[in-house]
Amino acid sequence: MRSEKASLLKNIPKVDKLLADERLRDFVNNKGLRVVVVDCAREVLNRIRNDALVGKLEQIPSDEEIVGEIRRKVEANLSYSLKPVINATGVILHTNLGRAPLSKVALENILRVSSGYSNLEYDLLKGERGRRYVHVERLLCELCGAESALVVNNNAAAVMLALKCFAQNREVIVSRGELIEIGGSFRMPEIMAQSGAVLVEVGTTNRTHLFDYERAISERTAMILKVHPSNYRIVGFTSVPSTSELASLAHKHELILMEDLGSGCLVDLSQYGLYGEPTVKSVIEAGADIVTFSGDKLLGGPQMGIIVGKRKFLEPMQKHPLLRAIRVDKLSLAALEATLKLYVLGELEKLPVFRMLAQDMKTLRRRANEVAKAIKKLLGEGADVWTMRSSSKVGGGSLPQAELESFVVAIKPHKLTPGELAKRLAKVDVPVVARIQDDALLLDLRTVFPEQQKVLVESVKKAVGQD
Ligand SMILES: *Cc1c(COP(=O)(O)O)cnc(C)c1O
Repeated sequence: MRSEKASLLKNIPKVDKLLADERLRDFVNNKGLRVVVVDCAREVLNRIRNDALVGKLEQIPSDEEIVGEIRRKVEANLSYSLKPVINATGVILHTNLGRAPLSKVALENILRVSSGYSNLEYDLLKGERGRRYVHVERLLCELCGAESALVVNNNAAAVMLALKCFAQNREVIVSRGELIEIGGSFRMPEIMAQSGAVLVEVGTTNRTHLFDYERAISERTAMILKVHPSNYRIVGFTSVPSTSELASLAHKHELILMEDLGSGCLVDLSQYGLYGEPTVKSVIEAGADIVTFSGDKLLGGPQMGIIVGKRKFLEPMQKHPLLRAIRVDKLSLAALEATLKLYVLGELEKLPVFRMLAQDMKTLRRRANEVAKAIKKLLGEGADVWTMRSSSKVGGGSLPQAELESFVVAIKPHKLTPGELAKRLAKVDVPVVARIQDDALLLDLRTVFPEQQKVLVESVKKAVGQD
């Protein structure tokens, strides 16, 4: 037995011999890649050696097979890790899939501004150093009806900056029904602790009254914080004071009222049949001093934390040293300016988020039928394929209860479970992320762009076809 293994091991080819193989020549001749090829070759040979030692191999694979494996490894190494996927989940603002897709105008502006130099922090009229925030300030003030505006990396950073600036070592009053967690890493109590603010919880999970806030006010209080329940709803016997009630209370005691809106919507969504997401403007009008929200949720722009409100509260934040650590880059600013311009021009149909929201059942049904037909044709007897009514979600911590009527393609492969099909779909060239319900894999066309339909069908074919 021992000698059998020894002779097996002796048959493992040397790295140098493999590197000389002409099928690896293009890689090896590239100076930068040589190291990668050597690493991959060692990895493959180590695996073969280990398999031989534990008796998993009866004979060493041929040089041709080994070279093929090395090539595939090098190619996988060279391919992009971050890449486009097709979102067939029906969740429009999917945090794991990058939230809002950017509009073409935003992408073109990124290219226009970032391929060369720009006036990012240069005042062209004065010929001297300027501020990067001026490029979006006026637009944000206009669209939100606010006196002043500031942008940072994301909404978590926006909340952190405001707390640090106004509530460090002081108390912030929050309703127990609003101590939220968003997507794992944003937990309101933890952000508060990090900022040095002292959390004072009031009320109960389902009901908090104005008098709960009033009783909690002391000389240590800096702020009342209202948090929009963006990814959940407390329903039934519930009540919380409105923004204007809290504003009156806060101002009577010379406190700041801050509202974390989460998604931050700039237009009334009831035109899309969606209710319950307040516009930023309405919250400013109701008297909030500072309002924070994300750029990449319902706004449909880049990852960003947007802060709008009264000038006297924005100024200290604009001068705070923490701002430097959470400042936005030129790519995001270019994307945001272009996105905001679409709102000013009333061209919302140019924002992918709104196009997806606005799709009607007739269109979704037609598109689902097209895709189902193409998939049926490709898979033949390999799967049951049908279309049916279903519902999509807005996602991204917005409108948790809103269900958008939708039409989906259902696939039930004969030789695979829907879970196995989903796994395979994640591995093809253009990966597809789908939903599983009961025994079928569902493709929700609402979040699949029309120009992706062909590729979607191709990806399904590859996933079902591979063995
Ligand atoms: C999404 C959300 C956040 C976090 O925003 P990011 O931009 O992801 O940092 C904070 N608060 C609320 C209410 C949210 O909905």
